[in-house]
Amino acid sequence: MGLPLTTKALSKEDYEPLIDKIRTRMLSWTNKSLSYAGRLQLLNSVISSITHYGFPGFNIIFCIIFHSGMFGKTTGSWIWRKLLKLCPLAYQFIRVEVGNGEKAFFWHDDWLRIRKLIELTGATGTRYLGIVRSARVCDAVAQGQWRVRGQRRRHFQDLHAKIQAEPVPNQCMGEDRFLWRHETEVYKDSYSASRTWEQLRRKKEEVNWSSSVWFKQGVPRFAFIVLLAIQNRLSTGDRMRQWRIQQGCVLCGERDKTRDHLFFACPYSYTVWDRVVGKLMGRRINPDWSDMLRYIRNGAANLKNQVLISLLFQVVVYHIWRERNLRRNQQGQKGTELMISTINKTVKNRISSLGYEADHRLEGLLRRWFEVFD
Ligand SMILES: [Zn+2]
Repeated sequence: MGLPLTTKALSKEDYEPLIDKIRTRMLSWTNKSLSYAGRLQLLNSVISSITHYGFPGFNIIFCIIFHSGMFGKTTGSWIWRKLLKLCPLAYQFIRVEVGNGEKAFFWHDDWLRIRKLIELTGATGTRYLGIVRSARVCDAVAQGQWRVRGQRRRHFQDLHAKIQAEPVPNQCMGEDRFLWRHETEVYKDSYSASRTWEQLRRKKEEVNWSSSVWFKQGVPRFAFIVLLAIQNRLSTGDRMRQWRIQQGCVLCGERDKTRDHLFFACPYSYTVWDRVVGKLMGRRINPDWSDMLRYIRNGAANLKNQVLISLLFQVVVYHIWRERNLRRNQQGQKGTELMISTINKTVKNRISSLGYEADHRLEGLLRRWFEVFD
């Protein structure tokens, strides 16, 4: 990164090469419009370079921002603001192990494993404890002892006692170490994006329809449309109405087009749906979306039927949604027969591409498809 390797505190000039590099990187990135993945990548790259060089917590980010004048009109500023917002979040992941106390900031790094001291005491704390705001931990030591005031102030007694109980920093203990949390109570001196993400993401209960969307034999491109349909996030009539756009069904001419009409109350869709799953579902087939979803989740008699029904559901939803969009752009005019044969072809191709061998429990899936579709 072009920084001098030194244990002493770095001056503003020492940061210049780093600032230049980050600025260049920011500008080149922001020239393109960043995708969501791109932004993540950027955050990861900045965070890992910062933690890699053992900077004093995230204070460095503030230094860089203010010294480089990026806060303002440059194109990178929005990213910096986003990064700044992440600082409190990042702090939860950082632990400081004090050695000689020369790197860790007394007030701004969580070296007592309780919180940043400045947050505990407020700004007046610096006066009562007699430690200046910019002090490092080693500045609170003199002649091998903690030199911290405040023991007589009721508010600060606990804090005072806690500091006194800490080992006094000295040179034999080596440098301060900044550690990154990898999991609960496991800290390492490296940053891991995936570990951090694991801790950050809220582990949601698995939604009960997930097996109808994500399954091995499915096609991701189709699954995505099904996912949107289940969440009712496709731009069908019921959503467009919010924007006062009148939209009829392009498949059958029905005036009010909703998700539930399109799948599968619409005569066009129902005809298709009935032809492809009729034999598999028998009398259970009906045009109601929620009923269908419930059946697809756990209605099939055996594994092969289950896989076929789930796959057909994906394929039908996908192709009907596609046909609907083509027709809206005056490009589609597939009749139901042509639609059914497209679906048949898609299903055959998908099953063949899975290549199940003789000892696989889904061997014969294609044969089963020929049985139920004629
Ligand atoms: Zn319709």
